[in-house]
Amino acid sequence: MACDSGTVTVGERAAELDAHDALGAIRTRFLDVPDVVAYLDGNSLGRPLAATPERIAAFVRDRWGGRLIRGWDEGWMEAPARLGDDLGRVVLGAAAGQTVVGDSTSVLLYKAIRAAVALDPSRTEIVFAAGDFPTDRFVLQGIAAELGLTLVPIVAAHDSGVDADQVAAAAGARTAVVVLSHVAYRSAYLTDVAATTAAAHAVGAATVWDLSHSVGVVPLRLDEWGVDLAVGCTYKYLNGGPGSPAFLYARRELQPRLAQPIQGWMGAAEPFAMGERYAADPGIRRFLSGTPSIVAMQPIADMVALLDEVGIAAVRAKSERLTGFAVERFDEELAPLGVRLASPRDPSRRGSHVTLDHPAFPSMLAALHARGVIPDFRRPDGLRIGLSPLSTSFAEIEVGLAAIRAELR
Ligand SMILES: *Cc1c(COP(=O)(O)O)cnc(C)c1O
Repeated sequence: MACDSGTVTVGERAAELDAHDALGAIRTRFLDVPDVVAYLDGNSLGRPLAATPERIAAFVRDRWGGRLIRGWDEGWMEAPARLGDDLGRVVLGAAAGQTVVGDSTSVLLYKAIRAAVALDPSRTEIVFAAGDFPTDRFVLQGIAAELGLTLVPIVAAHDSGVDADQVAAAAGARTAVVVLSHVAYRSAYLTDVAATTAAAHAVGAATVWDLSHSVGVVPLRLDEWGVDLAVGCTYKYLNGGPGSPAFLYARRELQPRLAQPIQGWMGAAEPFAMGERYAADPGIRRFLSGTPSIVAMQPIADMVALLDEVGIAAVRAKSERLTGFAVERFDEELAPLGVRLASPRDPSRRGSHVTLDHPAFPSMLAALHARGVIPDFRRPDGLRIGLSPLSTSFAEIEVGLAAIRAELR
């Protein structure tokens, strides 16, 4: 698999990069999967921590099994906001009392956008990215139909994303809310949240950010950036497991004015008062609706603790090195075969994946999987090379891209 670049083979270069990787030893904290030689899809589903099987077994045995219904009085009621505070401190740049965990990203997007739109009912337009992840667009289409609002799309280049000047051009006095992803799911383009939020605020619009592809891998400073509302996924770079609950952030001073559309007892001021009329919790808990999954929160807590130990700045530094190595390998081995780079070249402008386009990719996935190489496929012809800094090695990139090259030939 080695191919010459100067006197050092690619395999030796990757081994060298891994040997000098300050975070290299952290890879042993994740479960090993023997039949996978290159897992390049951590941006869709992060690997489990090695601690996760016993964490879940212990929870079932000791907390659920051992405490039964008493568990709700022994921490489970507080868990959604407590884990939210931990996320806020470790990865979101958010002070306590502004983040809550529960529901899916799609459902929380719906709640956040409805709450943002209701802030000023005289505003009738929603600005969004035409190339955003399907669920974001579908939720928006539903809300627009439900409330008679107009959707204003921003179209970005294939290998790029939305910028503050595009928002400034698209938003105006009629804009209720600007809904955008921090890292574009296809191109990995990294939007400047602070500048874009300021552009929305300049015309009096609120912002809802989708952090699914940035949380846990790109440093966030939500409080400092003046973000109004944000949601994100926990099974990508937060390794929570398939369907693990999402999180919602709402800026503290906005909370008393935010009404979410699914009023349930868990978001009420006094869930156990069994009252006649709904009265929202005064704080962030108002975004809860029904009983959240306490079981599914367990793995997230361990990953947040690991991120706290390592520090998000170190994670981001390795992420840039990993995507940089992938682009370097692409330039040398895949560009000559007609593969196109569909992500930004500047590491400071991209998240933690690199998208490569080629018409042969759709029919190549099965062969890559047979080699133990697992990238991510995005229509029409994109392979996303997703790089999770704490669990991905440079050798995996080398092996993965060499397999793509071999299959293309
Ligand atoms: C992964 C992802 C989601 C996931 O939504 P679910 O409700 O968890 O299925 C939503 N939006 C974006 C931008 C994503 O990347």
